[in-house]
Amino acid sequence: MFSADQTTAAIAADAANAAANQATPAREDSVGEPDVTLVLIVSTLCNLRCQYCYEYPDLANRHRLSQAELELVFTRVAEHYQRSRPLHIRFAWQGGEPLLQEPEYYRLALARQASIFAATQHHVSNVVQTNLTVLDEERIELLGDAFFGVGVSHDVVGELRVDAGGRSRAERVVANIDRLIQARVRMGGITVLSRQNYRHAAQIYEFWQRRSLPFRVLPMHRGPLPTLGDMALSSAEVRQVFAELVDLWLLDPGNPKPVAPITELVEALIWSRSSGDGFRRYDGQRQAALLIVNPRGFVGGVNDLLDLDNAYGNVLHSSLADIFAGDRYAQRVARAASALRSTCAQCPHFERACNGHPAAEGGKEFWQRDRSGAPLCLIQRGTLAHIEQRLAQLGLLPELPASVSNGPKPEQPARASA
Ligand code: SF4
Repeated sequence: MFSADQTTAAIAADAANAAANQATPAREDSVGEPDVTLVLIVSTLCNLRCQYCYEYPDLANRHRLSQAELELVFTRVAEHYQRSRPLHIRFAWQGGEPLLQEPEYYRLALARQASIFAATQHHVSNVVQTNLTVLDEERIELLGDAFFGVGVSHDVVGELRVDAGGRSRAERVVANIDRLIQARVRMGGITVLSRQNYRHAAQIYEFWQRRSLPFRVLPMHRGPLPTLGDMALSSAEVRQVFAELVDLWLLDPGNPKPVAPITELVEALIWSRSSGDGFRRYDGQRQAALLIVNPRGFVGGVNDLLDLDNAYGNVLHSSLADIFAGDRYAQRVARAASALRSTCAQCPHFERACNGHPAAEGGKEFWQRDRSGAPLCLIQRGTLAHIEQRLAQLGLLPELPASVSNGPKPEQPARASA
């Protein structure tokens, strides 16, 4: 390209991030990245029993958000942002397996959504994340014309994604990916990195790139409690596989598709170095840009809904304004601010290539601590260091502008805020 837990919580958080940041090809969207993402977990019902699934106990639960409840969610969102500048609001539909719901469910909901937002200035888009085991002509049509993009989960190597009978559905998924490519449906891949596949970065990379699909890797992080046994990865192992993906992408002689979060970090580092600019520090109060809504209407951010005591509130009972004014949300913002102080303050990438979001919203990979007790950022910071080193070796690391290398850090505009 440039040639010259914590375990289950990790998957939940990263799945939400994947939807928010799009394993789908967001860059082709004329309105760009979303300002606000609502992850709608329509139901936890699923036909698979992936060993790392955070919804495991609820996978047979058929409860789903009803049409009336979805309408209420859309109305609350439209009301909350009615005085905002024009925003790109993205709804990321997830499960469970969302394609177990009949296509008519989405047709009805999206028609109602369109009518509610027609009176606003906002641009609304919809993406969906699926295991792609269930696909028929009606669903192909739905994916192609009702959704901006589709994120498909496939681990390429490994046998953790099995059905209730313990059988792998990988072959079916690959066949369905190729059907969607033929049908020209916009999509991207999502590969969970576990002990079964993390030594096969090249094979994973090649699988998605051969199909010209962007993809995201989601590591299963080994947390302080070994609830996922030996399938989860240590921070050092995650950093190692990320470094390998950096090298594969940087040295790819073709025109490779993005690999999240790798290419986002490369771009952020180059942008920050060449412009002397940086991301404004993450501010949970201002950037309530990702909200997850579960099938009962509880609302939270990344990691928050794994324990409903941490939910900010319930959107079926309260307005978003009331939810953001509540104690739970204030506590979440305070925790994020404290994480930034303890983990990011001394980092050379803070407010440059990184706004501290991983530390502020994370938890999963921040369980190891230094002698003072501050959580260590081993993956994001380690990967940025690796990228910096590789770019320098390739002669591609832009010089910092003199005003930045010699002077105080300038005030920057936020690159993304709600
Ligand atoms: S790389 Fe880690 S420590 Fe540095 S700013 Fe980002 S989250 Fe904070």
